[in-house]
Amino acid sequence: MKSRYLVNVFASALLSIPSLSLAADLKVVTSFSVLNDLVQEVGGEHISLTNLVAANGDAHVYQPSPLDAQAVAEADLLVVNGLGFEGWMERLEQSAGFKGVKVAATYGVDLIHLDDEDEHHEEGHHDEDEHHDEEEHHEEDEHQDEEEEAHAEEHHHHGEFDPHAWHSVTNVLVYVENIRAALVQLAPEHATEFNQNAKDYVKALKALEKDLTQKMSQVPENKRNVITSHDAFGYLAREYGFNFTAPQGMSTEAEASAADVVKIIKQIRKDDIQAVFVEKVSNSRLIEQIARETGAKIGGELYADALSSPNQGAGTYINMMQHNISTLVKALSN
Ligand SMILES: [Zn+2]
Repeated sequence: MKSRYLVNVFASALLSIPSLSLAADLKVVTSFSVLNDLVQEVGGEHISLTNLVAANGDAHVYQPSPLDAQAVAEADLLVVNGLGFEGWMERLEQSAGFKGVKVAATYGVDLIHLDDEDEHHEEGHHDEDEHHDEEEHHEEDEHQDEEEEAHAEEHHHHGEFDPHAWHSVTNVLVYVENIRAALVQLAPEHATEFNQNAKDYVKALKALEKDLTQKMSQVPENKRNVITSHDAFGYLAREYGFNFTAPQGMSTEAEASAADVVKIIKQIRKDDIQAVFVEKVSNSRLIEQIARETGAKIGGELYADALSSPNQGAGTYINMMQHNISTLVKALSN
Protein backbone atom coordinates (compact mmCIF):
# COMPACT_ATOMS: atom_id res chain seq x y z
CA MET A 1 0.00 0.00 0.00
CA LYS A 2 2.71 2.34 1.01
CA SER A 3 4.88 1.78 -2.02
CA ARG A 4 1.90 2.20 -4.31
CA TYR A 5 1.20 5.59 -2.80
CA LEU A 6 4.77 6.60 -3.42
CA VAL A 7 4.53 5.50 -7.02
CA ASN A 8 1.41 7.57 -7.47
CA VAL A 9 3.05 10.62 -6.01
CA PHE A 10 5.98 10.12 -8.30
CA ALA A 11 3.74 9.73 -11.35
CA SER A 12 1.66 12.79 -10.63
CA ALA A 13 4.78 14.80 -9.93
CA LEU A 14 6.06 13.81 -13.33
CA LEU A 15 2.83 14.90 -14.96
CA SER A 16 2.96 18.31 -13.38
CA ILE A 17 6.60 19.02 -14.16
CA PRO A 18 6.58 19.52 -17.93
CA SER A 19 7.66 22.84 -19.28
CA LEU A 20 4.51 22.64 -21.35
CA SER A 21 2.67 24.84 -18.94
CA LEU A 22 4.90 27.50 -20.46
CA ALA A 23 4.24 26.44 -24.02
CA ALA A 24 1.35 28.07 -25.85
CA ASP A 25 -1.87 26.11 -26.16
CA LEU A 26 -2.59 24.30 -29.40
CA LYS A 27 -4.33 26.77 -31.71
CA VAL A 28 -7.40 25.16 -33.24
CA VAL A 29 -9.77 26.70 -35.77
CA THR A 30 -13.18 25.18 -36.56
CA SER A 31 -15.21 26.05 -39.63
CA PHE A 32 -18.67 26.27 -38.04
CA SER A 33 -20.55 26.19 -34.76
CA VAL A 34 -21.30 22.46 -34.55
CA LEU A 35 -17.62 21.57 -34.88
CA ASN A 36 -16.75 24.32 -32.44
CA ASP A 37 -18.89 22.66 -29.79
CA LEU A 38 -17.49 19.17 -30.46
CA VAL A 39 -13.87 20.38 -30.37
CA GLN A 40 -14.56 22.36 -27.20
CA GLU A 41 -15.94 19.23 -25.53
CA VAL A 42 -12.81 17.20 -26.33
CA GLY A 43 -10.17 19.92 -26.09
CA GLY A 44 -11.50 21.50 -22.91
CA GLU A 45 -9.17 24.07 -21.44
CA HIS A 46 -6.07 22.75 -23.14
CA ILE A 47 -6.60 24.33 -26.52
CA SER A 48 -7.10 27.83 -27.83
CA LEU A 49 -10.19 27.64 -30.04
CA THR A 50 -11.45 30.00 -32.76
CA ASN A 51 -14.59 29.37 -34.78
CA LEU A 52 -15.35 30.85 -38.21
CA VAL A 53 -19.08 30.65 -39.12
CA ALA A 54 -20.79 31.71 -35.91
CA ALA A 55 -24.00 30.47 -34.30
CA ASN A 56 -27.00 31.12 -36.57
CA GLY A 57 -24.62 31.60 -39.52
CA ASP A 58 -24.93 30.00 -42.95
CA ALA A 59 -21.76 28.12 -43.91
CA HIS A 60 -22.97 27.50 -47.47
CA VAL A 61 -22.74 31.18 -48.39
CA TYR A 62 -20.17 32.41 -45.89
CA GLN A 63 -17.68 35.13 -46.73
CA PRO A 64 -14.54 34.91 -44.59
CA SER A 65 -13.25 38.08 -42.96
CA PRO A 66 -9.65 39.30 -42.59
CA LEU A 67 -9.84 38.17 -38.94
CA ASP A 68 -10.73 34.66 -40.13
CA ALA A 69 -7.68 34.66 -42.41
CA GLN A 70 -5.50 35.68 -39.48
CA ALA A 71 -6.88 32.89 -37.30
CA VAL A 72 -6.31 30.32 -40.06
CA ALA A 73 -2.79 31.63 -40.67
CA GLU A 74 -1.92 31.01 -37.01
CA ALA A 75 -3.77 27.71 -36.60
CA ASP A 76 -1.97 24.48 -35.73
CA LEU A 77 -5.11 22.49 -36.48
CA LEU A 78 -8.03 23.27 -38.76
CA VAL A 79 -11.14 21.14 -38.26
CA VAL A 80 -13.63 21.18 -41.13
CA ASN A 81 -16.69 19.14 -42.03
CA GLY A 82 -15.51 18.65 -45.61
CA LEU A 83 -17.55 17.21 -48.52
CA GLY A 84 -17.93 20.66 -50.04
CA PHE A 85 -19.85 22.08 -47.07
CA GLU A 86 -17.32 24.89 -46.63
CA GLY A 87 -16.87 25.80 -50.30
CA TRP A 88 -14.85 28.88 -49.36
CA MET A 89 -12.28 27.07 -47.20
CA GLU A 90 -9.61 26.14 -49.70
CA ARG A 91 -9.34 29.70 -50.94
CA LEU A 92 -9.15 30.93 -47.37
CA GLU A 93 -6.37 28.45 -46.54
CA GLN A 94 -4.41 29.60 -49.57
CA SER A 95 -4.83 33.30 -48.97
CA ALA A 96 -3.98 32.84 -45.28
CA GLY A 97 -0.95 30.68 -46.04
CA PHE A 98 -2.23 27.95 -43.71
CA LYS A 99 0.59 25.66 -42.63
CA GLY A 100 -1.05 23.51 -39.98
CA VAL A 101 -2.86 20.20 -40.11
CA LYS A 102 -6.34 19.97 -41.60
CA VAL A 103 -8.78 17.33 -40.47
CA ALA A 104 -12.12 16.52 -42.09
CA ALA A 105 -14.33 15.47 -39.18
CA THR A 106 -16.45 13.36 -41.55
CA TYR A 107 -13.55 11.02 -42.33
CA GLY A 108 -14.81 7.45 -41.96
CA VAL A 109 -18.49 8.37 -41.64
CA ASP A 110 -21.03 6.19 -43.43
CA LEU A 111 -21.92 8.82 -46.01
CA ILE A 112 -25.03 9.34 -48.07
CA HIS A 113 -24.05 9.22 -51.71
CA LEU A 114 -26.01 11.64 -53.84
CA ASP A 115 -27.38 10.01 -56.91
CA ASP A 116 -27.01 12.55 -59.64
CA GLU A 117 -26.66 12.32 -63.41
CA ASP A 118 -23.00 11.41 -63.11
CA GLU A 119 -23.64 7.69 -63.05
CA HIS A 120 -20.08 6.95 -64.17
CA HIS A 121 -18.78 8.42 -60.92
CA GLU A 122 -20.62 5.81 -58.94
CA GLU A 123 -18.26 2.93 -59.38
CA GLY A 124 -15.81 2.51 -56.56
CA HIS A 125 -17.07 5.60 -54.78
CA HIS A 126 -18.76 3.71 -52.04
CA ASP A 127 -15.42 3.37 -50.36
CA GLU A 128 -15.60 5.33 -47.16
CA ASP A 129 -12.05 6.54 -47.58
CA GLU A 130 -12.80 8.15 -50.87
CA HIS A 131 -13.62 11.64 -49.73
CA HIS A 132 -10.69 11.68 -47.36
CA ASP A 133 -8.36 10.90 -50.21
CA GLU A 134 -9.96 13.71 -52.11
CA GLU A 135 -9.39 16.13 -49.25
CA GLU A 136 -5.74 15.21 -49.08
CA HIS A 137 -5.40 15.38 -52.78
CA HIS A 138 -6.65 18.93 -52.70
CA GLU A 139 -4.31 19.88 -49.95
CA GLU A 140 -1.22 18.55 -51.62
CA ASP A 141 -1.93 19.57 -55.16
CA GLU A 142 -2.35 23.25 -54.82
CA HIS A 143 -0.60 23.74 -58.11
CA GLN A 144 -2.50 21.22 -60.15
CA ASP A 145 -3.22 22.34 -63.67
CA GLU A 146 -6.19 24.51 -64.51
CA GLU A 147 -8.26 21.75 -66.02
CA GLU A 148 -8.02 19.55 -62.97
CA GLU A 149 -8.76 22.50 -60.74
CA ALA A 150 -11.93 23.25 -62.64
CA HIS A 151 -12.94 19.61 -62.44
CA ALA A 152 -12.37 19.53 -58.68
CA GLU A 153 -14.39 22.71 -58.21
CA GLU A 154 -17.22 21.27 -60.20
CA HIS A 155 -17.04 18.08 -58.22
CA HIS A 156 -17.37 19.91 -54.94
CA HIS A 157 -20.03 22.18 -56.27
CA HIS A 158 -22.27 19.32 -57.28
CA GLY A 159 -21.33 17.46 -54.15
CA GLU A 160 -20.89 13.75 -54.38
CA PHE A 161 -21.97 13.15 -50.81
CA ASP A 162 -24.47 14.84 -48.56
CA PRO A 163 -22.26 16.95 -46.27
CA HIS A 164 -24.82 17.37 -43.41
CA ALA A 165 -23.60 14.26 -41.60
CA TRP A 166 -23.82 15.75 -38.08
CA HIS A 167 -27.59 15.20 -38.02
CA SER A 168 -26.89 11.60 -37.05
CA VAL A 169 -25.49 11.02 -33.56
CA THR A 170 -23.87 7.83 -34.82
CA ASN A 171 -21.89 9.93 -37.27
CA VAL A 172 -20.95 12.46 -34.64
CA LEU A 173 -19.35 9.67 -32.61
CA VAL A 174 -17.00 9.35 -35.60
CA TYR A 175 -16.47 13.14 -35.70
CA VAL A 176 -15.50 13.07 -32.02
CA GLU A 177 -13.06 10.23 -32.53
CA ASN A 178 -11.39 12.10 -35.41
CA ILE A 179 -11.13 15.22 -33.28
CA ARG A 180 -9.74 13.28 -30.32
CA ALA A 181 -7.13 11.55 -32.47
CA ALA A 182 -6.00 14.85 -34.01
CA LEU A 183 -5.70 16.62 -30.66
CA VAL A 184 -3.79 13.73 -29.10
CA GLN A 185 -1.43 13.65 -32.03
CA LEU A 186 -0.72 17.37 -32.00
CA ALA A 187 -0.65 17.92 -28.23
CA PRO A 188 0.32 14.53 -26.76
CA GLU A 189 1.15 16.16 -23.42
CA HIS A 190 -2.63 16.51 -22.84
CA ALA A 191 -3.56 13.08 -24.21
CA THR A 192 -4.95 11.91 -20.87
CA GLU A 193 -7.34 14.85 -20.61
CA PHE A 194 -8.41 14.66 -24.27
CA ASN A 195 -9.07 10.93 -23.96
CA GLN A 196 -11.07 11.39 -20.78
CA ASN A 197 -13.08 14.32 -22.21
CA ALA A 198 -13.86 12.31 -25.33
CA LYS A 199 -14.90 9.30 -23.26
CA ASP A 200 -17.28 11.42 -21.14
CA TYR A 201 -18.74 13.12 -24.18
CA VAL A 202 -19.22 9.86 -26.07
CA LYS A 203 -21.16 8.58 -23.07
CA ALA A 204 -23.43 11.65 -23.23
CA LEU A 205 -23.86 11.21 -26.98
CA LYS A 206 -24.85 7.56 -26.60
CA ALA A 207 -27.44 8.49 -23.99
CA LEU A 208 -28.71 11.18 -26.37
CA GLU A 209 -28.94 8.69 -29.20
CA LYS A 210 -30.99 6.30 -27.10
CA ASP A 211 -33.34 9.07 -26.03
CA LEU A 212 -33.83 10.40 -29.58
CA THR A 213 -34.45 6.94 -31.02
CA GLN A 214 -37.10 6.30 -28.38
CA LYS A 215 -38.81 9.65 -29.10
CA MET A 216 -38.75 9.29 -32.88
CA SER A 217 -40.25 5.81 -32.66
CA GLN A 218 -43.44 7.41 -31.32
CA VAL A 219 -44.18 9.07 -34.65
CA PRO A 220 -46.63 6.91 -36.63
CA GLU A 221 -45.24 5.46 -39.86
CA ASN A 222 -47.71 7.37 -42.03
CA LYS A 223 -46.72 10.73 -40.57
CA ARG A 224 -43.03 10.58 -41.33
CA ASN A 225 -43.03 12.82 -44.41
CA VAL A 226 -41.43 16.15 -43.64
CA ILE A 227 -40.86 19.34 -45.63
CA THR A 228 -37.99 21.74 -44.81
CA SER A 229 -36.36 24.64 -46.66
CA HIS A 230 -33.13 22.96 -47.74
CA ASP A 231 -31.99 19.35 -47.84
CA ALA A 232 -30.05 19.27 -44.57
CA PHE A 233 -31.68 16.35 -42.81
CA GLY A 234 -30.86 13.34 -44.99
CA TYR A 235 -28.89 11.63 -42.22
CA LEU A 236 -31.60 12.20 -39.65
CA ALA A 237 -34.13 10.80 -42.14
CA ARG A 238 -32.00 7.73 -42.75
CA GLU A 239 -31.43 7.16 -39.05
CA TYR A 240 -35.09 7.21 -38.06
CA GLY A 241 -36.92 6.15 -41.21
CA PHE A 242 -38.32 9.54 -42.20
CA ASN A 243 -38.68 11.22 -45.61
CA PHE A 244 -37.49 14.80 -45.88
CA THR A 245 -38.17 16.90 -48.96
CA ALA A 246 -36.91 20.43 -49.57
CA PRO A 247 -37.57 22.94 -52.34
CA GLN A 248 -34.09 24.39 -52.08
CA GLY A 249 -31.87 21.35 -52.50
CA MET A 250 -28.60 20.51 -50.77
CA SER A 251 -27.17 24.02 -50.47
CA THR A 252 -28.77 27.32 -49.52
CA GLU A 253 -26.78 28.93 -52.36
CA ALA A 254 -29.36 28.28 -55.04
CA GLU A 255 -32.89 29.64 -54.90
CA ALA A 256 -35.69 27.15 -55.35
CA SER A 257 -37.28 27.35 -58.79
CA ALA A 258 -41.00 27.87 -59.28
CA ALA A 259 -41.15 24.32 -60.65
CA ASP A 260 -39.55 22.95 -57.46
CA VAL A 261 -42.15 24.73 -55.36
CA VAL A 262 -45.05 23.47 -57.47
CA LYS A 263 -43.65 19.94 -57.19
CA ILE A 264 -43.52 20.20 -53.39
CA ILE A 265 -47.02 21.61 -53.17
CA LYS A 266 -48.32 18.69 -55.24
CA GLN A 267 -46.44 16.26 -53.05
CA ILE A 268 -47.86 17.76 -49.86
CA ARG A 269 -51.38 17.33 -51.19
CA LYS A 270 -50.75 13.82 -52.49
CA ASP A 271 -48.99 12.54 -49.36
CA ASP A 272 -51.30 14.36 -46.99
CA ILE A 273 -48.42 16.08 -45.22
CA GLN A 274 -49.70 18.07 -42.28
CA ALA A 275 -46.66 19.98 -41.18
CA VAL A 276 -43.81 21.83 -42.80
CA PHE A 277 -40.77 23.11 -40.92
CA VAL A 278 -38.83 26.32 -41.22
CA GLU A 279 -35.12 26.47 -40.61
CA LYS A 280 -33.55 28.91 -38.27
CA VAL A 281 -30.99 30.16 -40.75
CA SER A 282 -32.59 29.71 -44.16
CA ASN A 283 -35.14 32.07 -45.55
CA SER A 284 -38.54 31.00 -44.21
CA ARG A 285 -40.61 32.88 -46.80
CA LEU A 286 -40.78 29.93 -49.16
CA ILE A 287 -41.94 27.51 -46.50
CA GLU A 288 -44.55 30.02 -45.33
CA GLN A 289 -45.85 30.32 -48.87
CA ILE A 290 -46.02 26.54 -49.22
CA ALA A 291 -47.87 26.28 -45.91
CA ARG A 292 -50.39 28.92 -47.02
CA GLU A 293 -51.06 27.29 -50.35
CA THR A 294 -51.46 23.77 -49.02
CA GLY A 295 -53.02 24.44 -45.64
CA ALA A 296 -50.19 22.48 -44.01
CA LYS A 297 -49.29 23.92 -40.62
CA ILE A 298 -45.84 25.15 -39.77
CA GLY A 299 -44.57 22.56 -37.32
CA GLY A 300 -41.81 24.70 -35.86
CA GLU A 301 -38.26 25.75 -36.39
CA LEU A 302 -35.39 23.33 -36.97
CA TYR A 303 -31.68 24.00 -36.63
CA ALA A 304 -29.93 22.71 -39.74
CA ASP A 305 -26.45 24.06 -40.40
CA ALA A 306 -25.65 26.02 -37.25
CA LEU A 307 -26.21 26.00 -33.53
CA SER A 308 -28.20 28.80 -31.94
CA SER A 309 -26.65 31.36 -29.64
CA PRO A 310 -26.45 29.96 -26.07
CA ASN A 311 -29.74 31.49 -24.86
CA GLN A 312 -31.88 30.17 -27.74
CA GLY A 313 -32.09 26.53 -26.70
CA ALA A 314 -29.83 24.96 -29.33
CA GLY A 315 -26.49 26.35 -28.24
CA THR A 316 -24.78 22.97 -28.07
CA TYR A 317 -24.85 19.98 -30.39
CA ILE A 318 -26.78 17.93 -27.86
CA ASN A 319 -29.34 20.70 -27.31
CA MET A 320 -29.73 21.21 -31.04
CA MET A 321 -30.53 17.53 -31.60
CA GLN A 322 -32.95 17.51 -28.67
CA HIS A 323 -34.65 20.64 -29.98
CA ASN A 324 -35.01 19.28 -33.52
CA ILE A 325 -36.33 15.89 -32.47
CA SER A 326 -38.78 17.34 -29.92
CA THR A 327 -40.05 19.80 -32.53
CA LEU A 328 -40.58 17.03 -35.09
CA VAL A 329 -42.19 14.61 -32.66
CA LYS A 330 -44.50 17.25 -31.22
CA ALA A 331 -45.71 18.39 -34.64
CA LEU A 332 -46.07 14.92 -36.17
CA SER A 333 -47.48 12.85 -33.31
CA ASN A 334 -50.92 14.37 -33.07
ZN1 LIG B 1 -26.96 22.95 -45.48
